[in-house]
Amino acid sequence: MIHVLKHVESITQHRDRTLLELGVASALFELVKAREVNLYKVSQHGTDSFLARVTHVGQDGVRYVQSEFDEGGEAIPLTQRPEMVACVEQTQIVRRHDSEHSGYVHCFPISVDRRVLGVLEVVCNTPLSTEDLGTAEGFLGLYRNYLSLLDYSERDTLTGLLNRKTFDENLGKILQGLAPGESGLNRDATPPHRRRQHEDGSYWLAVVDVDHFKRVNDQFGHLYGDEVLLLLARIMQESFRHQDRLFRFGGEEFVVILRASSDHEVSVALERLRAGVEAHTFPQVGTVTVSIGYTGIHSSDTIPDIVGRADDALYVAKDNGRNQVRSYETLLACGQVSAREAPDSDIELF
Ligand code: GH3
Ligand code: MG
Ligand code: MG
Repeated sequence: MIHVLKHVESITQHRDRTLLELGVASALFELVKAREVNLYKVSQHGTDSFLARVTHVGQDGVRYVQSEFDEGGEAIPLTQRPEMVACVEQTQIVRRHDSEHSGYVHCFPISVDRRVLGVLEVVCNTPLSTEDLGTAEGFLGLYRNYLSLLDYSERDTLTGLLNRKTFDENLGKILQGLAPGESGLNRDATPPHRRRQHEDGSYWLAVVDVDHFKRVNDQFGHLYGDEVLLLLARIMQESFRHQDRLFRFGGEEFVVILRASSDHEVSVALERLRAGVEAHTFPQVGTVTVSIGYTGIHSSDTIPDIVGRADDALYVAKDNGRNQVRSYETLLACGQVSAREAPDSDIELF
């Protein structure tokens, strides 16, 4: 019992989801004497579902992805793993005898609001006993409840998007991961075999600001203004991929952190959002438009640098008629914005 509580204590000290997941997998690995424990994230691309392993604890060591932004290793189609299909589609615990490796694979669905977001896989030499099944379910319950608490503290109450407080933490983690020679989170929980997983493209930051929003409030009242913000957040959630991060930055200003391989790819995604907002008919209010400025994120950047560049591009969009998407890098190349200077420091060195 004390042994179990020690695991619970170590799991709940983390506010970082990747460490939380690692804590759950490690606890189960030890408590049920598993051969290996894996955590898979389920993602949707069109109508197809994919599985990507984000955490692994086994006799060969421990591996987990760099951050929540990573989708994990290579994603495989869910259909390649029939036991996972049953687990995800019927939200049921599934056990399969793996004769090839003479072991038993147990799959536990991780569901939030009746949607299966992941699968916990426990591989053992023998089938799990009723007691061990109970332990696994107990830890999964703890994990789910703890995730909801984390979610609650990180989200904006009106739109459900990530809040401003979480923005600095998220961007800070991205910059930390980009730093050359950075080995990741240097804490006591850092596993020895931790490795950085695939890098698919670079990070970009976009600031999205509602055009003439003051007029919406003045003309229709604050409640209709709030509804516009809520609907806008929904349109944004539909426009971007699951792993892109959406924040409500301030009143009628939003920030998107996304991953893409080129400026063109980002501009297509943002243009889709801009056009989607323009095409939407907001109840009572009618048409609303947004202006968007964006920039690339580099390892040498600071948070104010990045936000400042995206804001400069946004300013140009506002100044040139609004309802448009502008890239800081393109504007810089055309001489339409000047390079930002490093801010003066008030620290003097003698
Ligand atoms: P621009 O196109 O230049 O961005 O013009 P704007 O009117 O959108 O910008 P401005 O910054 O002048 O006004 C923003 C307005 O957003 C002012 C404020 O009343 C409103 N606002 C800020 N937060 C909220 C909110 O949570 N709910 C509502 N309904 N309005 C908000
Ligand atoms: Mg505005
Ligand atoms: Mg604004």
